[in-house]
Amino acid sequence: PQLEPATLFIFGASGDLTQRKIIPALYNLFLGGFLPQPFAIIGVSRTDFTEEAFHQHLRAGVDRFSLQEKHTGETWRQFTSLIRYIACDYDTPDMYEKLLSAMDQSWQTTANQVFYLATPPALFPEIINQLGASGSFRGNQQFRIVIEKPFGRDLASARELNAALLQVFEEDQIYRIDHYLGKETVQNILAFRFANAVWEPVWNRNFIDHVQITVAEQLGIGRRGGYYDTAGALRDMMQNHLMQLLCLVAMEPPTSFHPDEIRNKKVDVMNAIRPIPPDRVRFHAVRGQYGNGWIEDTPASGYRNEPGVRPDSNTETFAVLKLFIDNWRWQGVPFYLRTGKRLPARVSEISLQFRPVPHHPFAGPAADAIQPNRLAIQIEPEEGILLRTQAKVPGLGMNLKPVEMHYTYREVFDSLSPDAYETLLVDVLRGDPGLFMRADQVEAAWSVISPVLNFWENTPASQFPNYQAGQWGPFEAEKLIIDDGREWFLPACLEKNGKK
Ligand code: NAP
Repeated sequence: PQLEPATLFIFGASGDLTQRKIIPALYNLFLGGFLPQPFAIIGVSRTDFTEEAFHQHLRAGVDRFSLQEKHTGETWRQFTSLIRYIACDYDTPDMYEKLLSAMDQSWQTTANQVFYLATPPALFPEIINQLGASGSFRGNQQFRIVIEKPFGRDLASARELNAALLQVFEEDQIYRIDHYLGKETVQNILAFRFANAVWEPVWNRNFIDHVQITVAEQLGIGRRGGYYDTAGALRDMMQNHLMQLLCLVAMEPPTSFHPDEIRNKKVDVMNAIRPIPPDRVRFHAVRGQYGNGWIEDTPASGYRNEPGVRPDSNTETFAVLKLFIDNWRWQGVPFYLRTGKRLPARVSEISLQFRPVPHHPFAGPAADAIQPNRLAIQIEPEEGILLRTQAKVPGLGMNLKPVEMHYTYREVFDSLSPDAYETLLVDVLRGDPGLFMRADQVEAAWSVISPVLNFWENTPASQFPNYQAGQWGPFEAEKLIIDDGREWFLPACLEKNGKK
């Protein structure tokens, strides 16, 4: 259905995220005819761009980052006719009035207005206050606000930011982005679990031995050193993306797709996660920082040598958590979460390992070949699902070999998946907050990691750096899982490529 007329105000218009993600996504939506009509984009930041220079700056981003190839002069011209630019500091008095002056009078009062905060997070409170001072938005669905991550840097600051937002907007007008939730394969977890009858009966502690969630990045921190060095892997990845993946795997079946139904089920999971006592943190969490090393035969310099990073930085670039969920479904099943930078590959995958068969009639090498069933939900770079089972090797005698049932999105569907930002922007424009984080979810996720954050902050790491760029984190990450009689899986896409 056609979306209602809307104006999108982008705060942080000259920044990286706007150029890399927001505008390429909007342009793709424009090409597909999915934008509201009429629609206007108003970019705001301090840089003194002319409108033409701003358009050129955006074009450079689309050329680099758009999934589509067909941006001929004419379609680009039509698209940029929707885009205005206003140079303005966010502490300018009457900022909102200044922004409105870019729209004509009749348009101002009727169109939906979406405020997208793509600025450094330190500016969020100021922009929210400015908006609050200039308009009466609370409870009026015509006005919506989108907030980028990170949402706070701990539980207290997240609560503060929520309180500031809720002064000006109602919860259902607030869209806190975790772009992982917009990814096709992440949404496919719901389809896989709840549109198939075979999984639900085995999706519990009776059949599942443990769950591993890996979100590995091969890149370092690039130009984000200044920000990253104040954040670290726990804040940057674990609190949001990995926690959301855990919720999708562990949640109870929802009764509908109502935005609050799914979010209620997810928050139930987080509230059931067993708190880590401060004196047990070292048994449940491992941190790492990369030193000099090699990524695919190219030397990579250590974290402390990266631009914007303090030379004696104690910020973790790698983190593992072992969590338990205290409910009927998951009692006793460990969830191992692992994320880091400068790991051997860029890969996101969730693996569920099933329990071994209770008894088998095979003997000798056939018995030794049996591996527990493993289900791998592949999110990046390969998108698909893989189930490992045993098969008889053809020939005389009974020999076994693990084999894989596998499908990839690429093989099964010919169309390109929309970028996560396309999905999320359409949901904002439609007024559907289901794929966005609710206040209580954000706070619950901070509560889960708070004991680890506090412990690490109070006991600085003594041996950083403790893994080489290009390795799967420090030795302690292996030890944590080996001590439980288990091991990290090599992500399925790497296994297939024969990589170690
Ligand atoms: P960035 O490149 O540093 O851009 C920040 C923007 O804010 C610039 O447009 C800057 O423009 C503007 N700005 C800063 N101070 C201002 C002020 N006082 N008044 C008006 N404008 C001001 O940052 P980014 O990488 O785009 O990140 C933006 C947000 O997205 C952050 O919250 C970040 O955590 C989040 N995020 C980014 C990425 C990514 O890939 N970049 C990914 C996920 C989340 P002027 O200097 O022209 O004013």
